[in-house]
Amino acid sequence: MGASACMELARRGKRVLGIERFRVGHDGGSTHGGSRIIRDCYFEHPNYVPLLLECREGWDRLEHDSGRRIVHRPGVLYAGGPGSEVVEKSLESGATHGIRCERWSATEAMKHFPQFRFPTDWCAMFEPGAGFARPERAVRAACAIARSLGADVHEGERVLRWEEFSGGVRVVTSQSTYEAGSLILTAGAWMPALAQSLGVALQPQRVVVAWLQPVVKSSCESPRMPVWYLDRPGTSGVYGVPMADDQEPPLGVKVSTHGDGTPCDPEAVRVTATESELENIRKIAASFVPCCAERVVAGATCLYTMTPDQHFVVDRMPGSKHVTVACGFSGHGFKFMPVMGRILADMACDGRTTLPVGFLGLGRFSTHA
Ligand SMILES: Cc1cc2nc3c(=O)[nH]c(=O)nc-3n(C[C@H](O)[C@H](O)[C@H](O)COP(=O)(O)OP(=O)(O)OC[C@H]3O[C@@H](n4cnc5c(N)ncnc54)[C@H](O)[C@@H]3O)c2cc1C
Repeated sequence: MGASACMELARRGKRVLGIERFRVGHDGGSTHGGSRIIRDCYFEHPNYVPLLLECREGWDRLEHDSGRRIVHRPGVLYAGGPGSEVVEKSLESGATHGIRCERWSATEAMKHFPQFRFPTDWCAMFEPGAGFARPERAVRAACAIARSLGADVHEGERVLRWEEFSGGVRVVTSQSTYEAGSLILTAGAWMPALAQSLGVALQPQRVVVAWLQPVVKSSCESPRMPVWYLDRPGTSGVYGVPMADDQEPPLGVKVSTHGDGTPCDPEAVRVTATESELENIRKIAASFVPCCAERVVAGATCLYTMTPDQHFVVDRMPGSKHVTVACGFSGHGFKFMPVMGRILADMACDGRTTLPVGFLGLGRFSTHA
C-alpha cells in the first residue's frame, strides 16, 4: 500500500519519501508468496466493489508502465456447502454491480472443471474476469516507477516515531529525522507500534501457505485450472492459485486456508511452517482437488493484520491534520493496491477523497458512532 501511494504521489508531481525498514518486495510482511487472488464479486461487502472496479485500469497502467506481467485472469471458481455465504454473497455483489458471473450446481462446476471433487449438494459460481496478481512484482514495479518520477524510496531504514507540529509532521528513523507536510502510515502488521492512538485493536496473525506438486501438471496450470476458493461448512475456507508460465519458485499450486491464522507478534522470530501444518493443507487440497496434491514442495508463513470486523481502516489518524492511515487489511487487501494508492494520495494532498471509502473509517469503532 505504501509502494502504491509513493507511485501515485510521484505521478502527481509531489515530492515523495518512502521509508521501508527491510527491502522492497521482502518476504517478512504481508505481501509475498508469488500470488494474490483478485476478484470483483466481493462476498465480504458490496461496498468494496466500486473500489475494485477502479483497480482494473490501475493494474493495466502498472503493467504498461513497468513492462511486466502482473495480472492473470483465468477466472475464480467459488464453491461451498448448501447455501454457502461466500457463494451467495459473491453472486449478490456481482448482480448488484453488473459483474459477469455464473451460478453453477456442484455437478455443473465439476463438468466445467473436472479437476474438482465437490459433494453433490454443494453450490458454486464462476467469475470469469477474476484471477490473481504477482505481489512482489507489483510492489517492486510501483517503487521503480515512483523512483523514475523522482521519489526517494529508502530501504533498510526504520521509522521509530513521528510527531505532528502546526505545519506538518516530523519523522524520526533509524538513520535520520525528516519533516514533511503530510505523512501516510502503511506499516502493515507493525502498525500498532506506530499508531497507538488509532483507537482500534489490530491483531497480527501468522498464516501458513503451501506449494503442492501436482499429480497432473497440465491440469493445474492457468487458465485450464482457475483460482479456487472453497467455503467448507463449519470450518476455515481453503483456496488455491494455479501454476503459470511466469511463476517464480517455488513451483507448484499454492494452497492455504483463510480464517484460522494464529495471533503473533511481528517483532518476534516467526515459527516457520511445520511439516504437519503443510501436510494438513495438502490433505485438505487432496480431498477437493486431488490432481494438485501429490506432495508438498515448499511452505511459507505470512502475516494478516485483523481488525475486529475484518474490514480495512482507511482514515485520518484521530485528532490529526497531517497523518493518514491505511491498515488492518485483514487478509484481503492486496487486490486494492492500485486504488489504495490513489485514495492515500488524495487524502495526503487534499485531506479527503471522492472515492467511496467512508465505510472504512475509524468512526465505526467509536462507542458514540
Ligand atoms: C498468506 C496470505 C494470503 C493473502 N491472500 C490475499 C489474496 O489472495 N488477495 C488479497 O487481496 N489479499 C490477500 N492477502 C492480504 C494482502 O496480502 C494484504 O492485505 C496486503 O498485502 C497488506 O499490505 P500492507 O501494505 O498493509 O502490508 P505490508 O506489505 O506488510 O507492508 C507494510 C510494510 O511496512 C514496513 N514497515 C513496518 N514497520 C515499519 C517501520 N517502523 N519503518 C519502516 N517500514 C516499516 C514493512 O517492512 C512492510 O514492508 C493475503 C495475505 C497473506 C498473508
